[in-house]
Amino acid sequence: MRLILENIKELVQVDPQSRLWVAGKSMAEVQTIKNAFLLIKGEQIIDFGPMEELSRSDFEADDLIMEIDCSGKMVFPSYCDSHTHLVFAATRELEFVDRIKGLTYEEIAKNGGGILNSAKRLQEMPEDELYEQAMLRLEEIALTGTGAVEIKSGYGLTTESELKMLRVILRMKQHSPLMIKSTFLAHAFPLEFKGRHEDYMNLLINEMMPLIAAEELADYVDVFCDRGFFTMEESERILMAGIKLGMQGKIHANELANSGGVQVGVKYNAVSADHLEFVGDEEISSLLGSETMPTVLPGAAFFLNLKLAPVRKMIDSGLPVALASDYNPGTSPSGNMNFIQSLGCLRYGMTPEETIHATTINSAYAMGISESYGSIAKGKVANLFITKEISSYAAIPYSFGSNLIETVILNGEIQ
Ligand SMILES: [Zn+2]
Repeated sequence: MRLILENIKELVQVDPQSRLWVAGKSMAEVQTIKNAFLLIKGEQIIDFGPMEELSRSDFEADDLIMEIDCSGKMVFPSYCDSHTHLVFAATRELEFVDRIKGLTYEEIAKNGGGILNSAKRLQEMPEDELYEQAMLRLEEIALTGTGAVEIKSGYGLTTESELKMLRVILRMKQHSPLMIKSTFLAHAFPLEFKGRHEDYMNLLINEMMPLIAAEELADYVDVFCDRGFFTMEESERILMAGIKLGMQGKIHANELANSGGVQVGVKYNAVSADHLEFVGDEEISSLLGSETMPTVLPGAAFFLNLKLAPVRKMIDSGLPVALASDYNPGTSPSGNMNFIQSLGCLRYGMTPEETIHATTINSAYAMGISESYGSIAKGKVANLFITKEISSYAAIPYSFGSNLIETVILNGEIQ
């Protein structure tokens, strides 16, 4: 089966060089082809170019060909959302309303809010129900243009619940058309381990992680290295244990303080360091020259009205930046990457071009898949979306809250 997209008004994020990420000044430029075609065979992009170069002579007579006229419409590579917690048991609207009414953190927790309550609900919910709810969220984000997503555990906190979350993610990998990467996250110390952190560290490193590795449930290991969560030393031990078990590192770093998390991530060659609200010159120079993708999560900062990561300074210093949704019930209850682009432009001073790199190729790198996803290049997986008729690619971040996507193609198939 061949699929031909024809008369594309503008084919966006074309990259014949197949770069693995785009950094610094280069982020300001996005390559496009106007009045373009794109050819898909099976799951792959096999050719693209200006319409006048589309030749049907090399098609075989018995090729099944389907053509889509994209007049007035643009085609983009699907978004890669490299940081989510989209397996969860319950949304937290009640807590949202409590917060608006000005209740304190303690009052909110008493009413059933906060991460420890999320953990309790997750522990109680049967695996099948968790799976069905999370699959609905995947369908929702696919419709807004996401074609690849990383999903973390970390609401389980007990061995049994963490394994349950990761098994749900494994089932999603097997049944969803989206490309999925799974991450084991050491998220917080459970209440019952208050004052006994070393015991929980032992549980994580000597029980939980070996079981996860034995079932091959996680591609990555991640740790919340921040004030009040895991210390630098504890984070290093967790990353090291993960690496020994074949999981590459990722890190939640510098959200609440200059926690040293960035430096720990770089030291252990983490594929990404995420959050980065508290980043200064030292963190930036540590990231420069490293293989760790700085990843910013605008949804959480927007939802909680937090300090913003210094994205402009990071890009101007020559760093690449990825943006991800952080889809989770407590601090970012949306996986809409179009809106993440809007926030990138409106709150962080990024140009539309910079947000395109940040939500496609750079976020693909942050989940280890930029060789096959995140830009339009021959041989890459045909994960794309076709927009409605729009006047320029800046219409996506400009029209915040709208969905300008008309057709989604994943693995070469129209969804
Ligand atoms: Zn997170």
